[in-house]
Amino acid sequence: MSAQHTIHVHGEWRPAASGATREILDPADAKPFAVVAEGGMQDADDAIAAARAAFDRGDWPATPVAERAALLRRVADLLVRDREKIGLLESQDAGKTVEEGRVDVDCVADAFRYFADLVIGEGAGRVVDAGSDTVHSVVVHEPVGVCAMITPWNYPLLQASWKIAPALAAGNTFVIKPSEVTPLTTVALIELLVEAGLPAGVANLVTGPGDPVGARFAEHPDVDLISFTGGLVSGTKVAQAAAVGVKKVALELGGKNPNVVFADACLTDEDFDTAVDQALNAAFIHSGQVCSAGGRLIVEESVRDRFVAELARRAAKIRLGRGTEDGVECGPLVSAAQLARTEDYVASALAEGAVLRSGGKRPEPSEVRPAEGYFYEPTVLDQCHREMRVVREEVFGPVLTVETFRTEDEAVALANDTEYGLAGGVWTADAGRARRVAGRLRHGTVWINDFHPYLPQAEWGGFGKSGVGRELGPAGLAEYRETKHVYQNLAPEPVRWFAG
Ligand code: NAD
Repeated sequence: MSAQHTIHVHGEWRPAASGATREILDPADAKPFAVVAEGGMQDADDAIAAARAAFDRGDWPATPVAERAALLRRVADLLVRDREKIGLLESQDAGKTVEEGRVDVDCVADAFRYFADLVIGEGAGRVVDAGSDTVHSVVVHEPVGVCAMITPWNYPLLQASWKIAPALAAGNTFVIKPSEVTPLTTVALIELLVEAGLPAGVANLVTGPGDPVGARFAEHPDVDLISFTGGLVSGTKVAQAAAVGVKKVALELGGKNPNVVFADACLTDEDFDTAVDQALNAAFIHSGQVCSAGGRLIVEESVRDRFVAELARRAAKIRLGRGTEDGVECGPLVSAAQLARTEDYVASALAEGAVLRSGGKRPEPSEVRPAEGYFYEPTVLDQCHREMRVVREEVFGPVLTVETFRTEDEAVALANDTEYGLAGGVWTADAGRARRVAGRLRHGTVWINDFHPYLPQAEWGGFGKSGVGRELGPAGLAEYRETKHVYQNLAPEPVRWFAG
């Protein structure tokens, strides 16, 4: 494949029909380091036609489950083989550290293995008691058809795998459009699917912008399901377009995730250190560009001063730099737009009365931090309240806001005071309170005395405007399936409902 042949249609790599290309920038120095095809409407239509034809031909949907699972396992093995290469590519493309890139590859391999195991472990259908010896009634699952997938730039490979692995396990064909900012590891993943032996036309990829490529996916009559991960604004447009054709829709959108710390989580120095350390991780890993980032610290008033002082001290020590450099703990933001957005949120917070405890600006350039890179210091904003934009809207940058509470009810009310509902954390030494609060949080994932871990076996997704549907877990497979009831009468007789 040549550098600009990044569109994959019916088993062939090709350039954009228009010949257009796009330079991919390294966010650490804003310099182009790769070129991809800039697909358009024609490429989207071609890719969908290939996926439609492959589905209607029927060989992949009819491939025995054991063979489909074996292919997924081969993909996982190939990912392990290419871990260093793909981890590095993800780091350069998205700005994260190479170690984060490697961990992403491990998680992607886990997702492929999980869905292989899940389909292998299932029976061929659920027999239903129809109340008669002469009726055989069974509920079976079938693939939905052509699945269109649209993914964001923060976890490009991981988000793609949470869609591709279950879609293939269930026997679908698909088209995918990665973010135009970070398409490279999705191209690498499709290469691995081909190497693993996936038949031509089952997996199709168009590199290109949201509009028109993603928009075309959402409206195209030959697409049966659209699975979108990204922001609320684009997700709403996708859902509106899909509604016209009554397509199945899965949306994984943003979050404004609370991290609730009770004073009893800080009783010993060790516990205090753990809670602070994890609050840093919750907010600043991948420079806060995580849908489940714990960007809202909601801390009990009695420990606020000590907690925030320590948090700010440690935030200021986070080593920023190019993700490929040794010793760097946090990379740049992904783009100039994301940097400008972060600067804007911090400025608005300060204008609305927030108190800056650390960060709040771009760092001084250094050997590991080129001046042109999109770096921003981890920022702690104290004295925040619900009316502030920075508290209500998703920043998607290294910005932590601090709010305080006195009672458990207040803590829960603050944590639920968001239109989103993706994830949240609760820190307390009181197991009863931990379970009580977890039960009252209106978020799709709740971590108790932890933040960020997820399991491929457990569903991921949001309440409220964080989305529709779930990825991972059995529900993540069910998204890619139709359910059919087959009722077989083994001894048919006239029903005589009509006398004539
Ligand atoms: P985005 O909405 O700008 O873009 C996401 C994808 O949608 C990109 O591929 C983009 O090209 C495409 N797109 C844009 N406009 C479109 C349109 N009109 N029709 C179809 N597709 C369109 O989001 P982003 O900035 O790439 O990613 C950040 C967002 O993703 C954040 O809000 C974050 O919370 C969310 N996210 C959510 C999860 C989750 O699991 N819930 C995971 C990762 C990221």
